[in-house]
Amino acid sequence: MDFSIPTETVDLVARIRNFVETEIYPLEESWQKLSFRELIPQLQEKRQRVREEGLWTPQIPKSHGGLGLGFLEHALVSEQLARSPLGHYIFNAQAPDAGNMEILLEFGTPAQQEQWLAPLLAGDVRSCFSMTEPDRPGSNPVWMETRAERDGEEYVINGHKWFTSSADGAAFAVVMVVTDPDAAPHARASQIIVPTDTPGFNNVRNIPCMGHAGDDWASHSEITYTDCRVPVENLLGEEGAGFAIAQSRLGPGRIHHCMRWIGISERCLELMCRRAASRDIAPGEKLASRQVIQHWIADSRTEIDASRLMVLHAGWKIDQQGAKEARTEVSSIKYYVADVMMKVIDRAIQVHGAQGISDDTILSYFYRNERASRIYDGPDEVHRNVVARRVLREYGYSTR
Ligand SMILES: Cc1cc2nc3c(=O)[nH]c(=O)nc-3n(C[C@H](O)[C@H](O)[C@H](O)COP(=O)(O)OP(=O)(O)OC[C@H]3O[C@@H](n4cnc5c(N)ncnc54)[C@H](O)[C@@H]3O)c2cc1C
Repeated sequence: MDFSIPTETVDLVARIRNFVETEIYPLEESWQKLSFRELIPQLQEKRQRVREEGLWTPQIPKSHGGLGLGFLEHALVSEQLARSPLGHYIFNAQAPDAGNMEILLEFGTPAQQEQWLAPLLAGDVRSCFSMTEPDRPGSNPVWMETRAERDGEEYVINGHKWFTSSADGAAFAVVMVVTDPDAAPHARASQIIVPTDTPGFNNVRNIPCMGHAGDDWASHSEITYTDCRVPVENLLGEEGAGFAIAQSRLGPGRIHHCMRWIGISERCLELMCRRAASRDIAPGEKLASRQVIQHWIADSRTEIDASRLMVLHAGWKIDQQGAKEARTEVSSIKYYVADVMMKVIDRAIQVHGAQGISDDTILSYFYRNERASRIYDGPDEVHRNVVARRVLREYGYSTR
């Protein structure tokens, strides 16, 4: 087994780490104080720098203006970008746009790619993905209410969604809708592109989360669709393929989330170590001299390294055997890495004492914002169920 990383990848990762540390960390103080819209001029300036450095949309094929990174390279780059909450945005690799770019590349018609994908890739517009509903369990994605009924050359959409991240200010939504309620569960839904200025698309509110409603890209919206009409050409892929497209988006998406969480964990461990090594708890005695602190550092180091190896292995298995064969590994990392990240953030806050819960460091932002990691893209319990089901199957036991 060869764990070495190609030299050109090491160089690229070092360049990106340097950019994040020198250009993006200094924005974080403003990020904690200003609204996202107020920060946009500074973000645009940094985005322009990324373009000039030739690092724009690193996850996208070269034919579409990206760096054409393979899985391993992308995973390692994503870890570096995640060291700051603004990293992915500044490189145009942020959720939910990155996922929408992927599905438009794979399933979009040439006309859809020209109209929707091109401006996304250029960073001229943003988008959102509207699937979860307040009155149906997001953990059971084949059970949805929002309907699209065909009327001549249009779909008419009616329904209620929420937690549509980044809908505020987005140019369009990719909406998951039931097109055939009588079809088999996995063939009932479709994905349709809905421009947000379509009559009947109503952004009800940015949902306050952990004390902050946020705005623009940094928000999660409740949305109603009321007789919202779009041309049939806005259907993404085949009618009834909505679930399959969502799966193709969520599988690699979970790997991307996990690498992001590893980047966050690394940043928090670094802050924890710096604090432990510099904070005097008595004359001539540093916090790092205490064994309990050393153990938190050791556990964090070990758990982060284990997480990275598990994620890289899951990605390797997807590449070798396909997403279906890697379902156990993908579910394992989804709940394991989120748990490691939350523990590392919590330890880092503890080591900082009162400063840890203040907004003077980035730790409080991570603590507030990343708790959701154990819920979105499948709650912990659902992924544990997947792992247990597949393990027990080998022993002739069916959990269903
Ligand atoms: C910050 C954030 C951003 C999000 N962004 C988006 C987005 O951009 N677009 C979008 O469409 N959605 C988004 N979501 C929604 C997310 O995908 C759902 O919250 C998630 O799928 C869970 O669905 P639910 O909230 O309806 O919880 P439910 O399905 O009601 O589940 C509630 C709880 O029940 C338990 N549970 C559920 N099923 C089982 C089971 N089978 N076995 C045991 N326990 C179970 C779990 O503990 C779960 O947390 C986002 C959510 C958050 C928090």
